[in-house]
Amino acid sequence: MQTSIIPIFIPHIGCPHRCVFCNQWQITGHRGVPSPDEVRRLIASYTASARTPRRWEVAFYGGSFTAIPVEIQEGLLQPAHEALMAGTIDGIRCSTRPDCITPAILERLQGYGLTCVELGVQSMDDDVLTKARRGHTAGDVVAATELLRQYGFTVGHQLMPGLPGEDWDSLVRTTDAICRLQPDLARIYPVAVLTGTDLADSWRAGCYHALTIHEGVVRAAYMKQRFLEQGINCIRTGLQATEDLDDDTQVLAGAYTPAMGELVDTRRYGRQLLSFLRSLPAGPGITICYNRRDTSRVRGYRNVTVKTARWSLPHRLTWRQDEVPVGHIRVCQGRTSYDLDVNSKTGPTMI
Ligand code: SF4
Repeated sequence: MQTSIIPIFIPHIGCPHRCVFCNQWQITGHRGVPSPDEVRRLIASYTASARTPRRWEVAFYGGSFTAIPVEIQEGLLQPAHEALMAGTIDGIRCSTRPDCITPAILERLQGYGLTCVELGVQSMDDDVLTKARRGHTAGDVVAATELLRQYGFTVGHQLMPGLPGEDWDSLVRTTDAICRLQPDLARIYPVAVLTGTDLADSWRAGCYHALTIHEGVVRAAYMKQRFLEQGINCIRTGLQATEDLDDDTQVLAGAYTPAMGELVDTRRYGRQLLSFLRSLPAGPGITICYNRRDTSRVRGYRNVTVKTARWSLPHRLTWRQDEVPVGHIRVCQGRTSYDLDVNSKTGPTMI
């Protein structure tokens, strides 16, 4: 059954300071802390609006949930817990900082039925974390992840490729470290330079080179591919579009586009498919079959993979939707067919 999120935004609440890149008022489009009654109303209005049955999860996002004063935290959790007990919702989750996880905090969250914690990891390079003024280390991420596991929580990691001081080696080391930690899920947000942040000042002063959209896609696609190959569910790439983010005067530079997810998948699918097609002998035509739901991933955003294949390969190609599992591409040439599992490390297999 489809899971839908009821987002309760708590922008910057609980944050001990502002990280250089962060402007949650702009990212979430919200200000202030909702009251317990507002949380109740939001749950009621979301769950009443659904036309089809689904799993509902309340998610406290946009701040450092576990660092909020306990009475406010409990005031927010209480209506969510009541809805959970009543069967109106099916889960509760929150996002927080890696240095705000202790046994006492986790016991409190468990008491209210919260089962998933997403950590703002951003990078596993201490130099990058210092430059981003995160106020925690990669060691805190390891400790928090282990503690969450001990308590049986679902663990999420949020990563930000493109922070100041990150080069390709640093990105690879961060990706390696996350693969070793094996969170249950990951979100990748290539850095966008937002107004009202210290990063915007550094960018204006010429001290920070912002990612282009292409650079953001390349870095995020590398991370996502590695995560999927390690069985880590990568549930988002790129910031969710909001009115503020789609306003050019608010996003000054960097890798923000509402199409980031599609561009990342286009790169992952396209690179694997084109590299395999190049290895096949010229001659008999090739048919490329894919699941209907994979159409834009296989053909590429605005058909870029189809066009690249057309001008760069000697083969006669036919593209076709077919009964192929999502995430797989079937490549047929003459009497031979191959299965390409895009999200796995194993290469194409003959079928
Ligand atoms: S990145 Fe997280 S901890 Fe840092 S200011 Fe933003 S919400 Fe707070």
